[in-house]
Amino acid sequence: MRILVISDIHANLAAFEAVLADAGKVDAVLCLGDIVGYGPDPNECIALLRDLKPLISLSGNHDWAVLGKLDVEDFNHDAQAAIRWTQSALRPDHRAYLQSLPPAGQFGDFTLAHASPRYPVWEYVADTLTAAENFEYFNTPYCLVGHTHAVAIFEQMSANGYCDLLLPEYNVPLSLGEARLILNPGSVGQPRDHDPRAAYAILDDEARTWEVRRVEYPIEQTQARMREFGLPRRLIVRLSYGW
Ligand code: ZN
Repeated sequence: MRILVISDIHANLAAFEAVLADAGKVDAVLCLGDIVGYGPDPNECIALLRDLKPLISLSGNHDWAVLGKLDVEDFNHDAQAAIRWTQSALRPDHRAYLQSLPPAGQFGDFTLAHASPRYPVWEYVADTLTAAENFEYFNTPYCLVGHTHAVAIFEQMSANGYCDLLLPEYNVPLSLGEARLILNPGSVGQPRDHDPRAAYAILDDEARTWEVRRVEYPIEQTQARMREFGLPRRLIVRLSYGW
């Protein structure tokens, strides 16, 4: 099966549409959470996501904050403003949809978590030390995470906890071998790895390959919508930088 893996859409419809167009025909979709928050199109993004089938979708920390399952005060000032705006804009049926999503799950050999297998809603797997510890918290060969908004491939080098961070090679399928991996497809709607292009991955569970891709999208279209709704300036500007 050719599977589209996406994470951290963050209500950025222009980025989400560009990813779907670039990915082409897929047999299934895995979405690792943070569908809303930051961006201007929460309802449009949820409607588009729900139409993709078959779909496994998780919730993230921003989705939980919008639902009141996390304290908004735990977020930075700009994120708080975006969460409060999203709460006021979200349709009741879309709110119920977010409410139905778990923060972790499993798909065959792949454990799924928004943030980390240890703390599915709120831990950044952004360094090899944290990744090495997290290999203890899932039993499958591989784990897919989002949350950091940065493409990453962590490889467990030995059972005694040593772990490597591999650099992604875009548009080249990586063969999934014997080593256990924690894979992050990056963020669709708010990349933070100094590359403003939307990020996603194609997983082939038969050929056993993982391919990370980047795609340009009309950033200014999303930024214009954010200005229209008075979302924080810093959140608007950062999209241009991918940071
Ligand atoms: Zn996020």
